[in-house]
Amino acid sequence: MPGDPTAPDMTTQPRPVYVIGAGPGGLAVAAALRARGVRAVVVEKADEVGASWRRHYDRLHLHTTRRLSALPGLAVPRRFGRWVSRDDVVRYLEKYAEFHELELVTGVEVTRIEPAPEGEDGWTLHATGGRVLSAAAVVVATGFNHTPALPDWPGRDTYGGPLLHAADYRNPRPYAGQDVLVVGVGNTGAEIAVDLAEGGAARVRLAVRTAPHIVRRSTAGWPAQRTGILVRRLPVRLVDRLGALVARASVPDLSAYGLPRPTTGLYSRVKQGSIPVQDVGLIDAVRSGKVEPVAAVDSFDGAEVVLADGSRITPDAVVAATGYRRALEGLVGHLGVLDERGRPRTHGARTPGQARGLYFTGFTNPISGMFREMARDAEKIAKAVARQTARQTAR
Ligand SMILES: Cc1cc2nc3c(=O)[nH]c(=O)nc-3n(C[C@H](O)[C@H](O)[C@H](O)COP(=O)(O)OP(=O)(O)OC[C@H]3O[C@@H](n4cnc5c(N)ncnc54)[C@H](O)[C@@H]3O)c2cc1C
Repeated sequence: MPGDPTAPDMTTQPRPVYVIGAGPGGLAVAAALRARGVRAVVVEKADEVGASWRRHYDRLHLHTTRRLSALPGLAVPRRFGRWVSRDDVVRYLEKYAEFHELELVTGVEVTRIEPAPEGEDGWTLHATGGRVLSAAAVVVATGFNHTPALPDWPGRDTYGGPLLHAADYRNPRPYAGQDVLVVGVGNTGAEIAVDLAEGGAARVRLAVRTAPHIVRRSTAGWPAQRTGILVRRLPVRLVDRLGALVARASVPDLSAYGLPRPTTGLYSRVKQGSIPVQDVGLIDAVRSGKVEPVAAVDSFDGAEVVLADGSRITPDAVVAATGYRRALEGLVGHLGVLDERGRPRTHGARTPGQARGLYFTGFTNPISGMFREMARDAEKIAKAVARQTARQTAR
């Protein structure tokens, strides 16, 4: 840790481990590597750490608890409260990089990763400005939510009003008095719909393709995240059954308002990639009519949005909370390390057989919270890399 006189001299290590991305995932790995005496350099395309969090909407708070969201070697300050605000997440990440004295290169985007030339171990990174970097190992931490995904709805370009991705939504002010359609009911869509309804929009509709599982963020002081941690290793069918029981006891039936209980179990849905929606006001907003669930968006036709049930509506603005792509193809797609959905086949301490020394963190969406899992993966990756670099040095 910083200032430790017994720490190994990392400046003498020939090639660093490069960590791509200075979000929580990358910073956590860099700190864990440094704690093991491995020199890590974080390369970040933005000008500052925590770029993704700086861009999130104003109202956002972590829905995972402060304690269960801490990264290795530094607690999240108690004064940030149980549910940490967006600005405090950014403050924590800035402090984290400073506290661990992380080596950061900002304003540089890594564009492609190649194996080192024949006969050499490691990797070659190509980066903006014609930079070529030689790495003992690489950790890709470029984010699960890398590139906003906007569906290619037929007629999308004929729509005259503002049509923006949730990544570009900040707060409800520009929509005061307007009729707004939010598309997609993940955590982001649900919260933006509530934000708009509470923030003065005249009408808010929420287009729902698949009814979500809704859970209380906390019940009698017990956070939903803790339940997620406890059940994550149990059989999927058992957790599905438990989830249904808990939902019946704690979440009202919203079928009459257009939000029926889902037919696929909660954990089955998590395994398919969609985590439950934590209630930060959606249930009340739907019951009071402030947020109206409607059918999924089918297409656009001039000022009209055509819904899957055939109805047509004419919102003043559309906010598409339709998710993100990993966008890893350009970086590592040629290495055969991605699955058919474009996600890394390995994560944490495991590296692909044909790409030893290439690690990924932050590309799963676990029920137990991503900050927590990235913190745990950071330690595992650091241990594996330390072992690998020690072997390389011994040769
Ligand atoms: C709205 C929202 C709310 C969330 N809330 C929670 C929560 O409450 N609890 C929780 O545990 N998780 C939450 N998550 C999920 C997850 O924890 C966050 O997305 C988190 O920021 C992921 O960290 P990361 O480091 O993997 O990615 P990011 O934070 O996205 O960081 C990736 C970094 O890599 C940089 N980068 C990308 N490509 C390159 C490149 N080629 N070269 C150089 N730099 C590059 C980016 O600029 C960025 O700074 C939330 C996600 C979203 C979108």
